[in-house]
Amino acid sequence: MPEGPEIRRAADDIEKALQERPVLDISFTFDRLKEYEDFLIGAHIQRVDTKGKAMLLRFDAGFTVYSHNQLYGKWFIRNAYNYPKTNRQLRLAIHNEKKSALLYSASDIEVLRDEEIAAHPFISRAGPDLLSESVTADDLYKRFLSKPFYRRRWTSLLLDQSFIAGIGNYLRSEILFSARIHPSARPVDCTETQLRLASEAAINLMYQSYAHNGITNDLELAGKLKSEGKTRKQYRHWVFNREDQSCYMCGTPVEKIQAASRRLYFCPSCQI
Ligand SMILES: [Zn+2]
Repeated sequence: MPEGPEIRRAADDIEKALQERPVLDISFTFDRLKEYEDFLIGAHIQRVDTKGKAMLLRFDAGFTVYSHNQLYGKWFIRNAYNYPKTNRQLRLAIHNEKKSALLYSASDIEVLRDEEIAAHPFISRAGPDLLSESVTADDLYKRFLSKPFYRRRWTSLLLDQSFIAGIGNYLRSEILFSARIHPSARPVDCTETQLRLASEAAINLMYQSYAHNGITNDLELAGKLKSEGKTRKQYRHWVFNREDQSCYMCGTPVEKIQAASRRLYFCPSCQI
């Protein structure tokens, strides 16, 4: 399931494909959206914003196409009118002279006037998006200790999109490992050092994952492991997906548990 970094990369691909040329044709599968097609043909896509796992295609005609991929949505960028072979259902197709951007399987698609965006139920509730808003480690540190959040468990907090938008399951495990925080802890249980490390890790791992194809492990270590013939699953993360394998910091076997109904990986020696 894609998290903030993967959504931002998909947004970059859509921008690259659609930004330069006007929309030649656009079609929505849902009847309720068809009325907007005529407004958007001939318009330019100025940019593609993200808010966590939501994407906002900003058209110059004063409209924005909002989509949230939930669990199954997937964008494909293809040469114009060149559809992929897939059993997925096409929900939105945007074409220009050269390229097509095709959204499959997503059901959460809306067309908004630009002035309606701030009040949208998901956007208005979402926390800061670390990849598209200027959020500092100090801002996050204060957020961790603020009243709505400081007595909640990290494991549910880090998946809550109103806390920080765009963190998903792999980033949750990796942030907690990097800050040496035990998965049963809450912000109020942590030392100042752990809170500072967590605020830096949230930002740094998000950007690193975005820039380096999802890798949250130390980049030098990941490169070394790769050159030794290790698989991507083995070198990509510090702990995520590495049950029973040795912690890269201390050698203790990594453990897997269920937390907030999702799998979580941690090192019982490093995270206390
Ligand atoms: Zn360890």
